[in-house]
Amino acid sequence: MSTAERFTHMGGTSIATLLSLEEAQSLAAALDGAKPHDIVAAAIARVGRDHLAAVSSFGAESAALLKIVADVDPQLPVIFLDTGWLFDETLAYRDRLTQLLGLKDVRTIKPNAAQLAARDAEDDLWSRDTDACCTLRKVEPLADALAPFAGWINGRKRFQAATRADIPAVEYDNGRFKFNPLANVTPQEIGQIYRDARIPPHPMVAQGFLSIGCMPCTSRTQPGEDPRAGRWRGQGKVECGIHVAKKPSTP
Ligand code: SF4
Repeated sequence: MSTAERFTHMGGTSIATLLSLEEAQSLAAALDGAKPHDIVAAAIARVGRDHLAAVSSFGAESAALLKIVADVDPQLPVIFLDTGWLFDETLAYRDRLTQLLGLKDVRTIKPNAAQLAARDAEDDLWSRDTDACCTLRKVEPLADALAPFAGWINGRKRFQAATRADIPAVEYDNGRFKFNPLANVTPQEIGQIYRDARIPPHPMVAQGFLSIGCMPCTSRTQPGEDPRAGRWRGQGKVECGIHVAKKPSTP
């Protein structure tokens, strides 16, 4: 049974009709150019607030999405994935933003302890196989955390990297709708959100880190580089796997 079918057959609140690739594409076309607040509101309207979550790394630009989510519905669950390799500054920033923005339901999730012991007992998998490490510490825990939800909101932007240059406002992601409210914003607009709301930057931005993930796989971004160029530097890896679309299942 697909994710959408599971929700439709759940008791209580249910989404009215099955989610489909075609509807995601139609919704994406309708929301192309829409304001981020309107995309979040549309996500709640379509999926239902009980079936929707935001996912945030509380990284360099994360506060922009979190501010918009807080404006629209501060009760919306925000999933934060603590891989075990995050910077202390990121954990502190999570706590600071949660309080500052009034987010009411930030959920910190971690990799499965038994799987960590079995597959990365020495905490050195990142040095041998970054794809396997990301699968263990990011992709699998997030998949578990998203299991109860029919849609999720994330903060990817087209300007971040060539690989993100054409992301739409809505995608169909393994039976769920994935909403990208910031897909079309510019760096200047992100900066304006921070200034308008007097949001402090992630403390590592001032040190030259423009995209901040796990400690072993994050380096400073050099002038002229994509903001994400400092991630997995020199490895030819550009994504952790969370945003690698699986083939849509056809009914
Ligand atoms: S970013 Fe690096 S440390 Fe973090 S999960 Fe991926 S490979 Fe492991």
